[in-house]
Amino acid sequence: MERRVALTALAGLVLGAPLAARAAATHRPPHSDAEWRAMLSPAAYHVLRQGGTEPAFSSPLVAEHRAGTYACAGCRRPLFSSKTKYDAHTGYPSFRAALPGAITTTARAHGKPYAPVHCARCDSHVGRLYRDGPKSADSHYSMNGIALAFLPSTA
Ligand SMILES: [Zn+2]
Repeated sequence: MERRVALTALAGLVLGAPLAARAAATHRPPHSDAEWRAMLSPAAYHVLRQGGTEPAFSSPLVAEHRAGTYACAGCRRPLFSSKTKYDAHTGYPSFRAALPGAITTTARAHGKPYAPVHCARCDSHVGRLYRDGPKSADSHYSMNGIALAFLPSTA
């Protein structure tokens, strides 16, 4: 009986852990939790490091229409181009595509229509990826403005 319990627990670890284990191995955050807390505002820390979501329409980036790049607020890695930004009428800066290799997504939680999106460099949580249809082109990224730093094009 005890043996079966142990094996079941082990199976749960093996089946449930791969994504988290891979993320830990390849995306080590560049800062300790204490450093992140010191670097970020409480609201930004909640979104970037605790997986939170800002209130809809709270970010000035919802109405940002200039050409430029949207970078990670945690490490300044460029994540999105203004060329793929569009108005999804959700109150969140929304994009049709991310820059190549810029983000990682984790598996959708059961019953949720979206997958959490993280910065590929510092592993900060930046928003959600919604699948609107069966093809990968039928998706959109709904971001937290507080997790992004907008860098206008100078050209
Ligand atoms: Zn980052």
